[in-house]
Formats: sequence, structure tokens, C-alpha cells
Amino acid sequence: MTDTLAPPTPAQAAFLAEIEARLPGLRLLLDEADRESYRLDETAYLHPGLPLAVALPTETEEVSELLRLATAHRVPVVPRGAGTGLSGGAAGVEGALTVAFTRMDRILEIDRANLVVVTQPGIVNAALKAAVAAEGLFYAPDPASYEQCSIGGNLGTNAGGLCCVKYGQTRDSVLGLEVVLADGEVIRTGGRTVKDVAGYALTQLFVGSQGTLGIVTEAILRLRPAPPPRATLIAFFPSATSAGQAVRDMTAAGLEPVTLELMDRFTIAAVDDWHHLGLDREAAAMLLVETDVPGAAAAAEIDRAAIACQGAGASDVIRATDAQEADWLRQGRRMAFRALERLGVARMEDVGVPRARIPELIAAIEAIGDRHGVRIGTFGHAGDGNLHPTFVFDRDDPRAEEVTEAARADLYRAAIALGGTVTAEHGVGISRREALAEQVGPDVLRTMRSIKDALDPLGILNPGKVL
Ligand SMILES: Cc1cc2nc3c(=O)[nH]c(=O)nc-3n(C[C@H](O)[C@H](O)[C@H](O)COP(=O)(O)OP(=O)(O)OC[C@H]3O[C@@H](n4cnc5c(N)ncnc54)[C@H](O)[C@@H]3O)c2cc1C
Repeated sequence: MTDTLAPPTPAQAAFLAEIEARLPGLRLLLDEADRESYRLDETAYLHPGLPLAVALPTETEEVSELLRLATAHRVPVVPRGAGTGLSGGAAGVEGALTVAFTRMDRILEIDRANLVVVTQPGIVNAALKAAVAAEGLFYAPDPASYEQCSIGGNLGTNAGGLCCVKYGQTRDSVLGLEVVLADGEVIRTGGRTVKDVAGYALTQLFVGSQGTLGIVTEAILRLRPAPPPRATLIAFFPSATSAGQAVRDMTAAGLEPVTLELMDRFTIAAVDDWHHLGLDREAAAMLLVETDVPGAAAAAEIDRAAIACQGAGASDVIRATDAQEADWLRQGRRMAFRALERLGVARMEDVGVPRARIPELIAAIEAIGDRHGVRIGTFGHAGDGNLHPTFVFDRDDPRAEEVTEAARADLYRAAIALGGTVTAEHGVGISRREALAEQVGPDVLRTMRSIKDALDPLGILNPGKVL
């Protein structure tokens, strides 16, 4: 891109020189090729700016000093985790400083007595999970990208994943934060207490704010005793709406599976072509149901799930024979987006509706695919009412951009009409700002803006994102 060739302005050069003078030990990437790799996140179709520089701090004090200097020089700052986001939240802003947390990845303490872990934000979700599992403990939030994404990014987006239906989103597992504010001041919110209603719920406010209100440098996360091994069931359906009906029936029956995931026919074929799991490719949809309740209760819950699936018209209901088979099935579902990406340009969406309306959402998605003549692979966290319709285009399809825009607009309208949301877990970022306005309306938007103005009066924190 041509804009990469411009040298820093004198003001930008002065900012960079002051960083180097005050933080001589800080890793600062200035080379154009290095900066280029921080332009995009996984929202590959956006056209964001090139960072002026990329800082890789290791300590809170460095982040604080960077923010102090950024405020003094009026330079915007973009916090970044692993860059797997699907809304452009960590994408570059032209002339801004990207602060990437890759090197701030230490677990500071596993506090068994209080069932919490204290961690820096750069640690990868799977690494944190593995470290606490070694102590017989469980960190619940489980995005499908858990082997790549960071805890800081999960906090930034309030990430969801495959076990929210039972354990909630990231926000439900956060007790406290250390946050660097726009002017460099460091505050601590919450703590190790499970209950805390002292004042406004700032911890919860920062989670999901996509780095627009403050930058998280430490988090106190809630742990649980490791649950028993899971029991797993898959069910195949003659129509996607009958699978949606089964989800609705399981919810109404009060079942509490740890996982309740859906894949439609197109996605089943894409996953099976890649991983050869022997899935029923004739089926219009499949559900993956897992429970982690102990002992005989697990079989009882799986039996109730099977009854709900059969009642909704499932053509086949299969119980996983062992843990390895269950792991393959879960891994197959985790790879759904990557499997669709193998077929062309894949653009994942993230709508949510009240759970009882899942069948209507599925019908609306199918109608949108027909109307716009676009292939849509639909999969996702059906138990939460959260689906990821993914538009798939041939790599050289000149209509991709135009059709995506039109189909997305219809999708958002459909979700809102069903009492739902334009994003359930990926965030507004750059890509859903207009849709946010459509969903929440001017009063709520104004309230959000006044919070942003109070915490970031100069607008240097991740500008152009969310609002
Ligand atoms: C194949 C695939 C599957 C996915 N599956 C899921 C899924 O199941 N559930 C789900 O929720 N998401 C999913 N995602 C999206 C993505 O992985 C999540 O949004 C994840 O939380 C992003 O983490 P990250 O470390 O990559 O963050 P980034 O993309 O780097 O950043 C995400 C946001 O957080 C902000 N941020 C980063 N670090 C900080 C910090 N220290 N302080 C404040 N703000 C910060 C950034 O500014 C940005 O706005 C998936 C993505 C892919 C590619």
C-alpha cells in the first residue's frame, strides 16, 4: 500500500524518540515489514491503517509510560493480543502506536485457596487452561480459537466459545483487573472476592470494551475444580430448522449441557472433507451435545438430550464411544471456520437471538443465502442462541464485497427483528459500528459515548473502534 512509504512526521518522530529515550529496554518495531504484519487481525476484508510503531512491553510500568507519552503527544494507541479478532478491534490505525501483549504472558499466581489465577494478558488461552489443569483446576472460557487467542484479547472482546451455555462468557470468569487508563494512570478494579458491589461494576465495564476505555495489564480470573470427563452425543437432522427445534426443546426442558453446538450441511461437508470424521453428509444439520455432570447423571442428561433430538425429528443419534472420539468431534467443530476457509474467501458473522428463536434465525439465514445467491456455512454455539453464518465466495468472485455488505445488512436486520444482537461474542470493532447504532438506538449510543468521553477525553484509545 502506498501509505506505508510516508516517513514519520516531525511530531511522530519526536514521540518515537521520547519512547526510546525513556524506555531503552522496550522492544519497539519500526521496520515497515514488521509493522505491516500488525495492520490486520483475522477480519481480512477490512482496509485498516498501518501502525506508526509496534511496542512489545513486558511490564505494566512500560505500558503506563507509553500511555503517558501517547497522551502528551496525542498519538492514538491500539492494544493487541494475538490478532485473531473477527471485528477489526486490534487492526492498525494509521499513525497510531500498537501495543502488542505477546511478551507480557506470565502467570503470576495460581491461588488455590481462593480458586483464582492472576495473569498477565498476553498468555494464550490454551496455555492458561493447561497450567491450571496441571493443578486439577479449570478455567472455563473456551473460544474455538483457544490455541491462538490471548486472555487480553478474550477480555477485550468478552469472548465466548464452546462452553458458555453452562459457564458463561469471559466476563463471568473475571473478578478483578489492573487497567492502564488513557493518561497512563494505573488502577485496580475488583479483587479476589467472589462478591463485590462496592460502587460501579468497572471490571465488567472494561471487559468487552475492545481497548477503547483502558488497557488491561493484569487479570484475576475465576477457576473451578476440574469437572469430570465429558459424555458426548451427536445428532443428525433432515433440516436445519429441526436441529434448531431440538435446541429450543433442550433449553425448555432445563437441560444444562456444557456444549450445544450446531453445524449445517455445507459446514459438515467442509469439516469432513478435511478431517474424515465419518459425519453424515446427507444430513441438513448436526448438533454436538456434551455434558460434564458427574457419574450416572451424565448418562441421564445425554439420554434426555437424545429424546429431545428424536422428538424434533433427528434422523440419527449417536453417543461417542470414548473420550478420543469425543475429542475428535469437538475438534472438528472447532475447525469449522478453517474448513470453510479452504473453500474460498470466508467471512464469518456472529449474530445472537433468544434461544427459543434459533429455528427462526436458521430459516432467516437460509432465506438470505437464497436471496443473495451466496453460499452460507452456518455453525456455532446454538445453545447460546449464537450462530456464525459464514459467507463463502470463490477466490476470484468480483461480487464478494458487494454481496457481503448486502447480506450482512439483511442478517443484522433479521437478528434485531428476532430480539437479538448483531454480535454475540466477536465485538463491534470496526466492522459492526453501523449495525450497533441500528441495534441500540441513539439514546444508548449517547450513553456509551459519554462513558467513552469520561475515560478517554482525548480519544486516543483505539479510535474508530466500537463507537
Ligand atoms: C478460527 C477462529 C475461531 C474463533 N472462535 C471464537 C469463539 O468461539 N468465540 C469467540 O468469542 N471468539 C472467537 N474467535 C474470535 C477471536 O479469537 C476472539 O475474539 C479472541 O478473544 C481474540 O483474542 P486475541 O488475543 O486474538 O485478541 P485481538 O484480536 O488481538 O484483540 C481483540 C480485541 O481486544 C483488544 N485487546 C487486546 N488486548 C487487550 C488488552 N490487554 N487490554 C484491552 N484490550 C485488549 C483489542 O484492542 C481488540 O479490540 C475466533 C477467531 C478465529 C480466527
